[in-house]
Amino acid sequence: MQPTELIPQCFRQGAERMARAFGELDQVIVAAHVNPDGDAAGAVAAACHVLRSMGKEIMAYAQPGLPGYLDFFPMPVVVHTTLEHPPFTPRCALLLDCGEPDRLGRELAARLPGLVTVNIDHHLGSDGMGSAANWVEPRAAATAQLMAYVALAAGLPLTGDLATAVALGIITDTGGFCHGNTSADVLYLTAHMVEHGCDIALLRERLENTWSRGRLTLWGQLLQRARLERGGSVCFCPVYLEDLRKCGALKEDLEGFVEQLRRLRGVHVAAVLREDSPGSCKFSLRSYGSVDVRAAAARLGGGGHRNAAGGTVRSPMDAASVHLLDAIAAELDEEGVA
Ligand code: 5GP
Ligand code: MN
Repeated sequence: MQPTELIPQCFRQGAERMARAFGELDQVIVAAHVNPDGDAAGAVAAACHVLRSMGKEIMAYAQPGLPGYLDFFPMPVVVHTTLEHPPFTPRCALLLDCGEPDRLGRELAARLPGLVTVNIDHHLGSDGMGSAANWVEPRAAATAQLMAYVALAAGLPLTGDLATAVALGIITDTGGFCHGNTSADVLYLTAHMVEHGCDIALLRERLENTWSRGRLTLWGQLLQRARLERGGSVCFCPVYLEDLRKCGALKEDLEGFVEQLRRLRGVHVAAVLREDSPGSCKFSLRSYGSVDVRAAAARLGGGGHRNAAGGTVRSPMDAASVHLLDAIAAELDEEGVA
């Protein structure tokens, strides 16, 4: 099979259009959403590989930097956490895995009007905020999957660090090939990369088996605290700043925790509400099947995907808990979920 045959028919035109759009960019800031996860980091890394192969001047930007659990990950460029002293005068920005300017980080959001922008994303409800070109594909499991197709359309082989970047994004956003978005296309693409030397098992091990003692303690305490709401259809856990301090854990140590709450029999929606500051809380929602937590998150100004969504409630913890549980209950009522 020719590598370009790996690009599904429905994504081919978009991938070719993006490869051409990349050709028009230079002095590019490559960025994804704030608090980047594996898909954000993987998509940024893959994009940097592609742009670099085209001889472009590039820099990566992420707020507040990559999480510690990705220290092992081979980023092809330095990740800048501020735009105060860029290595060149940015003219363009490539915006990845992010549906809204607000989630790009304050400095980049403020600079957007002066930049030529291209936007590649897979979030439902994303408008496409690129001024020059947009490719928004909610059918894609990960933005890194779309980046793989752009790389193929640009003539790059999916090997080495580029393949690792794509695999990182796919593993993250499919929950290790388990979520409903694990399409045949995702598996074909991954099989191709494995065939050409990408070590998926090693990547997963580096992602999974790196817990700190603080993280283990935190999860233990929070599992005790999680409680059932709405007759058992919702499992909810609040997390206070004090919890992190006491356990010696970081915010990023909560990554993956909400998925544990969804495992409980009878639970349709798992919800974690994390205190960010005394007047602001970040929530993470998970569901499975047809239960739409993106719609619940949207009631509070958040977003995401049908089975994984999040947002921020600007209230202290007690009030935020009530708002969040009300929004989930209203959504479940509307969807007719018992
Ligand atoms: P997480 O719960 O892991 O932070 O995020 C789950 C999903 O919801 C991701 O796709 C993420 O992009 C999206 N998401 C998380 N927080 C926000 C937010 O504040 N606004 C929007 N629009 N999406 C969010
Ligand atoms: Mn993503």
